[in-house]
Amino acid sequence: MEKGNLSIHSENIFPIIKKWLYSDHDIFIRELVSNASDAITKFKQLVSIGEVEMSEEAYKIEIIMNQKNKTLKFIDNGIGMTADEIKTYINQIAFSGAEDFIEKYKDKADKDQIIGHFGLGFYSSFMVADNVEINTLSYKDGAKAAKWTCDGGTTFEIEEGTRACRGTEITLYLGEAGKEFESEYTVKQTIEKYCSFMPYEIYFTVEDKEPRKDEEGNIIEEELKPLNDIMPLYAKSPSTCEVEDYKEFYRKTFMDFKEPLFWIHLNMDYPFNLKGILYFPKLDTNFDTLEGQIKLYNNQVFVADNLKEVIPEFLLLLKGVIDCPDLPLNVSRSVLQNDGFVKKISDYIAKKVADKLTGLFKTERNDYEKYWNDIHPFVKYGALKDSKFNEKVKDAVIYQLTDNSFVTAEEYGTRHEGKLENEVYYTTDKNQQAQYIKMLQGHGIEAMIAEHPIDSAYISHMEAHLENVNFKRVDSNISDLLKEESSEDVKEIEEALLSRFKEATANESIKVKIETLKDLDVAGMIILSEESRRMQDMMRAYGGMGMDASMFPTDETLILNKNNVLVQFAIDHKETMTDESKLVMEQIYDLATLTHKPLTPEAMEKFVRRSNEILKKAIIE
Ligand code: ADP
Repeated sequence: MEKGNLSIHSENIFPIIKKWLYSDHDIFIRELVSNASDAITKFKQLVSIGEVEMSEEAYKIEIIMNQKNKTLKFIDNGIGMTADEIKTYINQIAFSGAEDFIEKYKDKADKDQIIGHFGLGFYSSFMVADNVEINTLSYKDGAKAAKWTCDGGTTFEIEEGTRACRGTEITLYLGEAGKEFESEYTVKQTIEKYCSFMPYEIYFTVEDKEPRKDEEGNIIEEELKPLNDIMPLYAKSPSTCEVEDYKEFYRKTFMDFKEPLFWIHLNMDYPFNLKGILYFPKLDTNFDTLEGQIKLYNNQVFVADNLKEVIPEFLLLLKGVIDCPDLPLNVSRSVLQNDGFVKKISDYIAKKVADKLTGLFKTERNDYEKYWNDIHPFVKYGALKDSKFNEKVKDAVIYQLTDNSFVTAEEYGTRHEGKLENEVYYTTDKNQQAQYIKMLQGHGIEAMIAEHPIDSAYISHMEAHLENVNFKRVDSNISDLLKEESSEDVKEIEEALLSRFKEATANESIKVKIETLKDLDVAGMIILSEESRRMQDMMRAYGGMGMDASMFPTDETLILNKNNVLVQFAIDHKETMTDESKLVMEQIYDLATLTHKPLTPEAMEKFVRRSNEILKKAIIE
């Protein structure tokens, strides 16, 4: 047996590794399984160049738990190590890496994702174990098994090992800090989290577990299945994958049982390696939960979810897996953020997504329209966030109209040629604004449905980018098409009526305007200036910031339809108010308000009472 000192100047590196290096303790599982997987790959490479003979045994990684002894073993049939190799790879290299690491990072707070970069992967086992043992046999002819033990201090022991077949067995004697990994469930979950796509089969067993028995007391033989999928769909060539495979992979990976709408299979070797599948999920009807999940892998090893430094933020609304072996994922996030290569990757992904969308728009417009209500918040959000993406997709942004057809902004113009100059009408609530929509439809004008919270931002964005286009909410003015030309001077009537309406409705801030609408049945309607309404919407959106929408009075105007009989009656009584004229004016005002927005409970109560009164009068007369 040989004893030695780990070559290290810092007094004791282990407390640092334990407390400081990894914020997620469970990462040791990923590190040990990755090392096992690398060891198998190295052996396979030797086989492929004819250096060694192919082995009979299937390549595999076993993880064996013993709950009584509190041990976790990681066993592989990879390349193995000789005693000398242990000294080089485990004792020296790792620790020189550790010194570098401490030098560089001792003052930095950003320590996430530093992973194996400094050759410290193996030592992450000391985060959870008091003692670690390596028992290994190298593939080399005549190699002797070697055993290394270390208790987390600065000394190690190396002696002849007991392993009889090629490969490495690493035993962790779990300590207080590793208590949670005494649970079978936790270990299984962690393996599934990090290793579900690793390229060699991983088997997990608890060796001292009571066997399951049937009613007669016979032991039930449980078939041992690998926990991972060694050839995940994304790693296959797209031409060999079927629609059903994509759906199945989606269900399994994201536990989402709603079918995805469509997907993009990314597969490129040049100028960088990247494979993956991005899915467009079906939206929840509840828009607030709009949130996807992009899992990032490095050579089939899970690295992180939703890594904003690599994936453009708006793409995080999708669901998908991306495997990029070339990514320098072992370095800290702040480094990733400023890495030109990472930017290229993220641009590539965004471009592929834009290509898919424009491709569908051009060649499968019908399907595209069917998907649209599910994908539009994503497309608009992306266009707002990323100008390159916007450039690509802007002509493929469509709007559903009030007749349920879909058009682009350009098609909207063509569709309304001769009717509208450069206005685009839109509705933010097609039920509440039904009256206005109907009036416009009566003259062949359809409004865009813009009911999603992102639409108001996207409308401003379009106005900024499209020349000469004005977006108007359906209740923001009365289109010239809806009214007759009139040269008559109505100023005096307007003023007189204004006084009467103020009196009747007890509303001092009311504004009144007389128009001659083509539709005789409509007595009055409320319009709301587009600018002041947008201002109010904005205030409401920032309501939490101490601003109050009520600080900005609404700019509502009551439009009275001159030729309507009720308005005529009001005009006839413009000088002196009678009980009847008061009733008529109040009712005109409430009806106009009702088609515009919900009445306050107080106003509603008055409206119902007054309506009953009117009905009674109708019976009596
Ligand atoms: P890294 O994996 O980043 O190089 P580690 O500390 O995890 O750093 O491992 C150091 C070295 O020890 C590895 O590069 C490898 O040569 C050797 N090693 C670790 N685990 C195994 C194993 N299961 N089989 C063979 N060699 C191993």
